Amino acid sequence: MQRLIEGVHKFRSGEFGNYRKLFRKLSQEGQNPHTLFITCSDSRVLAELITHSKPGDLFVVKNVGNIVPPANARGDTNSTAAAIEFAVETLKVSDIVICGHSQCGAITALLDKKPVSDSTPHLRDWLNLAAPVLETLKKDYPHLPEGPAKETAAAEENVLFGLDSLHSYSCVQERLMDGSLRLHGWFFKIATAELFAYDPEKRQFLPLVSES
Ligand SMILES: [Zn+2]
Repeated sequence: MQRLIEGVHKFRSGEFGNYRKLFRKLSQEGQNPHTLFITCSDSRVLAELITHSKPGDLFVVKNVGNIVPPANARGDTNSTAAAIEFAVETLKVSDIVICGHSQCGAITALLDKKPVSDSTPHLRDWLNLAAPVLETLKKDYPHLPEGPAKETAAAEENVLFGLDSLHSYSCVQERLMDGSLRLHGWFFKIATAELFAYDPEKRQFLPLVSES
């Protein structure tokens, strides 16, 4: 905790100076983020940092494994579904990004069926929402051995599953129909901080920007 408090002091006395006006403006005018950014709670994936975004730019949802439950998923209160509805219906974001990442603990747990224990019932049920990803792997990637390649395929398929799930929300369907909303599937590679975007025509994840 001491580290956090020291960080707050450093921010207030340093960087905040660059943001003072912006925070005041956002406080007075309210937020108007352009994008709903759904990514993993993983501490290494920082949406604002990797997209060079400022306060007010992104409406961020972080959850374990950047899973997007289908709209009809019931059970415990679904905060990700609530955030999707708020961002699409009220904030009127123009874009939704689902950003998976390499070395994702949630994906490993999904593949290993761990941790499936009585002490983590919420985690077990949450990961189970992405069970269709396992079916896709079995069907489309039977040749892949256990290991990094399979984990990457699972993380990418989980992003595509999330995009499919987004289509099950009526507020998303309406905005897609009138052409005012775009959906994007991204993958973040931690070691190099590279971003890849899904190309529906080529049916693969390609580098988002070409490095010079
Ligand atoms: Zn993760």
